[in-house]
Amino acid sequence: MKTFDYMEKYGYEQLVYFCDVNTGLKAITCIHSTVLGPSLGGTRFWNYATEDEAVEDALRLAKGMTYKSACAGLNLGGGKSVIIGDKKELVKDSVKLEAFWRSFGRYIQGLNGRYITAEDVNTTTADMDFVNMETNYVAGLAHKSGDPSPFTALGVFRALQASCKVAYGDSSTKGKVVAVQGLGHVGMTLCQYLHDDGATLFVTDIEQDRVNEAVTRFGAKAVSLDEIYDVDCDIYAPCALGATVNDDTIPRLKCKVICGAANNVLKEAPVHGKVIQEKGLIYAPDYVANAGGIINVYEEIKGYNEAASRRAIDKIYDRVIEILTTSADTGKPTYQVADEMAERRLNAMKNVNSIYNK
Ligand code: NAD
Repeated sequence: MKTFDYMEKYGYEQLVYFCDVNTGLKAITCIHSTVLGPSLGGTRFWNYATEDEAVEDALRLAKGMTYKSACAGLNLGGGKSVIIGDKKELVKDSVKLEAFWRSFGRYIQGLNGRYITAEDVNTTTADMDFVNMETNYVAGLAHKSGDPSPFTALGVFRALQASCKVAYGDSSTKGKVVAVQGLGHVGMTLCQYLHDDGATLFVTDIEQDRVNEAVTRFGAKAVSLDEIYDVDCDIYAPCALGATVNDDTIPRLKCKVICGAANNVLKEAPVHGKVIQEKGLIYAPDYVANAGGIINVYEEIKGYNEAASRRAIDKIYDRVIEILTTSADTGKPTYQVADEMAERRLNAMKNVNSIYNK
């Protein structure tokens, strides 16, 4: 499909290319929506094979951010930036690195607040400190709200408790067996919450030292990368990759609840969302469960207050309960209920909000 046709079909507002010959910066920013407020989404640095691949990624990720913020009740729109290049090469020269990110900051400033950036895959808060030298439209800074991952983990834990409430009538994970896939920034902290709550953990990661850490700290049982789908568990918590709920894995999953941090958990939402529903599984939609990080970043934009952030993240519990009960009442898969919740808010707010609100 041609770009304008695609943008028209899915309601995209803006797609911007930026090229700085001097620093080698090639960036694409996609603003999907500013209906609810300034668009916000991190900057991903990736060695894309083609320019089309980069554009597709920016388009897909920006729309996802619109839905995530809309569903979380934030006054934020959805956007995302992708940078095409080899980060490993760039970090070899600290002078070039600074110039590169400051050039990116100058470009972001030129969007005049319609888009706020943050760190994402392959970018760091140190990179964002350089960006911050040239623009105010950058969030998640180390000296402000910092790394969003612990807040994402807290939100996932609350989503998991809500899922348990609906599945078992009790929100506690005490005595529940949880299979955690991926022990990175979010997964490891989630394990801590679960362990403190009395859950039994099965874990896997491609990094053996992380697995060893979880075994030592939480008494977790280690399983291989593939075995995680066969664990006789109550809850499967995907915290590594997307698309792990698919035709191959669904017949193997023995859990009652699926709830984790990974984005795009369902390989094809309309297909696999329906299949797991028919199998009687309770699925907490990914972008609702993993919204803790963006909620924390939003608090930074308002003027950071960690207690307020934790209170806002706590509401993920109620939101997941609402989605799961609506799904049970209407027969709609949970991913669809979440999408409709986001769309209802977006449609209601058209022409209401100024993008410069807080
Ligand atoms: P991370 O990179 O810190 O951790 C990911 C972990 O998964 C790593 O330890 C990695 O070794 C492991 N892994 C990779 N492939 C694996 C495989 N095949 N099997 C098992 N483990 C594997 O990332 P993170 O920040 O912890 O984020 C985890 C997931 O949550 C990602 O999908 C991310 O997009 C999503 N997410 C993160 C945040 C956040 O605040 N960090 C917010 C929303 C969504």
